[in-house]
Amino acid sequence: LLSDTLARLDAAQNLNALISLNEGAAQQADAVQARVLAGETLPLAGVPIIVKDNINVRGTRTTCGSRILAHYTSPYDATVARRLMQAGAVIVGKANMDEFAMGSSTESSANGPTLNPWDTARVPGGSSGGSAVAVAAQLTPVSLGSDTGGSVRQPAAFTGVYGLKPTYGRVSRFGLVAYASSLDQIGPFARSAEDLALIMNVIAGHDPQDATSLHAPPEFVAGTPDDLRGLRVGVIRESLEGNTAGVESTLNTTLDALRGAGASVQEVSIASLRHAIAAYYLIAMPEASSNLARYDGMTYGDRNTPGADVNTSMTLTREHGFGREVQRRILIGTYALSSGYYDAYYSKAMKIRGLIAQEFARAFADFDVLVTPTSPFPAFRRGEKSSDPLAMYAADVDTVAINLAGLPALSVPAGFETIDGVRLPVGIQFIAPTLKDELLLTLAGGLE
Ligand code: GLN
Repeated sequence: LLSDTLARLDAAQNLNALISLNEGAAQQADAVQARVLAGETLPLAGVPIIVKDNINVRGTRTTCGSRILAHYTSPYDATVARRLMQAGAVIVGKANMDEFAMGSSTESSANGPTLNPWDTARVPGGSSGGSAVAVAAQLTPVSLGSDTGGSVRQPAAFTGVYGLKPTYGRVSRFGLVAYASSLDQIGPFARSAEDLALIMNVIAGHDPQDATSLHAPPEFVAGTPDDLRGLRVGVIRESLEGNTAGVESTLNTTLDALRGAGASVQEVSIASLRHAIAAYYLIAMPEASSNLARYDGMTYGDRNTPGADVNTSMTLTREHGFGREVQRRILIGTYALSSGYYDAYYSKAMKIRGLIAQEFARAFADFDVLVTPTSPFPAFRRGEKSSDPLAMYAADVDTVAINLAGLPALSVPAGFETIDGVRLPVGIQFIAPTLKDELLLTLAGGLE
């Protein structure tokens, strides 16, 4: 299985889905084989898996798609990596990503862009584009990404696979390199609800090494059409505008399928969503500016020291090591936190965050699950938004609010839109109440 996987990875090199291979994979595979031969039953015995390059796996390089960590080797395993290996999975490589998970297209990696296998002139989405492509191009059956504002769900939609962002605290963040700690969550990509369930049952659950980890043992099972009967589905009105024709028709087909299976479908308004993008970026960037202060060349990563004093060394290290988008976010984040601006920006964004969470909670009094498109459009062309940060940020309109509210959400591959003669996948997003992650896989299985 491992050599077959390595051959697939080799054949797909043009997609640039990986940053590095795990040199310890053969040893892991041997260890799994020995355990199985000794009579152990392992839920993921021998399953090859790729994880995003911001997840530490001991002995692998963990670069976060950044030049500043180009030579950083992980001295320990993230909890998710440890759990996967305990369950018998073999981590074969580390996936390409937008630098420090900041982006929506996987174009900002120091390792170059990842290509969308459906149309290589288009982006796979981001920031977990490499992990999404690994599953879409059938390099591995499952992979892990991280989702701070949509980075699992949007690339899942752009590449035609499932992508789950669990409830904040459901999956341990220990060993995940921090971008915006109050929003970050690790989530899986897969090609079926059943595969998602298999991997969630392994990676979810309480971890004493993550202070925000919740006590909620995973009980994931893919559902059947019978499970859809009586389900109360709310379509978020604010997500119905600005979609392409193919996204609109895919949403309608999905809603028809739900009605056909006996679910009730009604519209619901969450008015504060129009402030979600502004609030998200004014929270994510300040948190990032604080988290990324540690890359000073003294404790982590490469150091740039042409005979300089400590301040000059730190300045040169960060100037040389961080790409433009990361620098922009550190600047904006620092500005929004500084005295005199804190109240005008950060503190206002936090109030909107509270409002959004409240409005979601109110909607869940009447609905079991909410639905929106995952993105207003299918995969866009490489270069189309990379020189226009605001256009790039606006692409996250359907996903960021879920992280602000800490909710679980799943992007389901639900249809296609043909643009310029190319068939592109379209994803539909289902949102559940806190800790009702399981319901999303019940629903996804029912729709398959
Ligand atoms: N595109 C969003 C951002 O750039 C989300 C990224 C993510 O979820 N990691 O912040």
